Amino acid sequence: MIKNHLFFNEFSPWRFDLDSALGSTLWDKNGNKLLDFTSGWNVTNLGWNNPEIIEAVIKKLKKSSYVPGWSDEASQNRLAAELEKVLPEGLNVFARATGGTEAIEEAIKTARAFTGRRKIVSFKESYHGHSLGALALGYPAEGAIAKAVGPLPEGFLQIDFPAVTAENQDKDGVLSTFADRLESILMDADVAAVVTEAGMITGWGSTAVAPEGYLKLVRELTKKYGTLLIIDEVGTGFSRLGQLWGMQWEKVTPDIVVFAKALSNGVIPIGAMVTTEIIAEKSSILTNIYSTFGWLPAACAAALKTLEIHRRDKIWEKAERDGSYLQQTLKKELAQGGQKYGVRGIGMEIGLSLQSGTKGGGSWADKIVDRAYQKGLHLVGDRENNLQLMPPLTITQEELSRGIDLLLETIKEVC
Ligand code: PMP
Repeated sequence: MIKNHLFFNEFSPWRFDLDSALGSTLWDKNGNKLLDFTSGWNVTNLGWNNPEIIEAVIKKLKKSSYVPGWSDEASQNRLAAELEKVLPEGLNVFARATGGTEAIEEAIKTARAFTGRRKIVSFKESYHGHSLGALALGYPAEGAIAKAVGPLPEGFLQIDFPAVTAENQDKDGVLSTFADRLESILMDADVAAVVTEAGMITGWGSTAVAPEGYLKLVRELTKKYGTLLIIDEVGTGFSRLGQLWGMQWEKVTPDIVVFAKALSNGVIPIGAMVTTEIIAEKSSILTNIYSTFGWLPAACAAALKTLEIHRRDKIWEKAERDGSYLQQTLKKELAQGGQKYGVRGIGMEIGLSLQSGTKGGGSWADKIVDRAYQKGLHLVGDRENNLQLMPPLTITQEELSRGIDLLLETIKEVC
């Protein structure tokens, strides 16, 4: 889709011209004020245009703008050191990237080069980026996109994510079916890596949540068969799930973790692939990991300030509190209104689907997003039946309550 001479995609079609933003508020070019429930899809976790981060970037830019890949610079080393302090032990070698897709590509290459194996296992309807490799991880192989741009790289196997749904709440059953399936794939000892988000799918729009114990199980099975575990924290990272990292809930240490998006709170592009010294030593010479714009000093300054604020203000604690308030309020109000609903999530990453149709038919999520915009609430969803609620983690209680009221009003009008 082309609008104003720019590419848009089906997944994120053009919605409005954004003029400015601050905290949890956006203004469109016509001066309409919107309360944000998206964080730009898990990017502006500390609020849009966070003044502390912007100030840190401006200060850094006046001193230093570019560092080539054959050099390093103090803020890069400082960022690596600060991240190492908050990452699981042993993850301490950093590939400098500009975003999530690039970091995921680096992770796949690293896993293949290190293990000598070709196969990569991931989940249907997950999103890990837009490159050919990232598409092979999550997009349906028979879908229109894969057909149009394929062939996608070989060796990728997508399996069902063990989601707990409104229809299937049998957590133990979901987990044990999944364990059997995964083990049957890994037991040939020819899979280089399993790629997963930290306990849920945040990137596709369906907000699927796995039962507790999922990540530990994947860790155990991957270890048993010499497969690397790659955790994609691009969406879950930086306090969104009620911990600084989503993987902290199950105290799991992957072989590789990637993150981006909220790392600089959306102020400057940055991403990272992090692995262990053993893996990096063997693979780095083979994988050509080099990013011309990876970890520019201003991006590192943004990331350092972002990390400082998360830790200083323990943002994850507020995310946990606000997320459970949001989930509980939605469940209570929708049940009272007699709606058949599904509300699920972890922390402030919440999926909402309704089983009732819309008045006049059509995509439920699209209609809600459009109507909510008219009422001053900014939402995103998938193209069918699910809204993904991701308010900035710095949202005030008053804003959160107002957003919930607007959302419930919108649902009443549309359904
Ligand atoms: N992984 C996940 C979970 C994501 O949500 C995204 C972006 N939506 C990516 C990877 C790709 O990141 P980027 O857009 O920065 O390339």
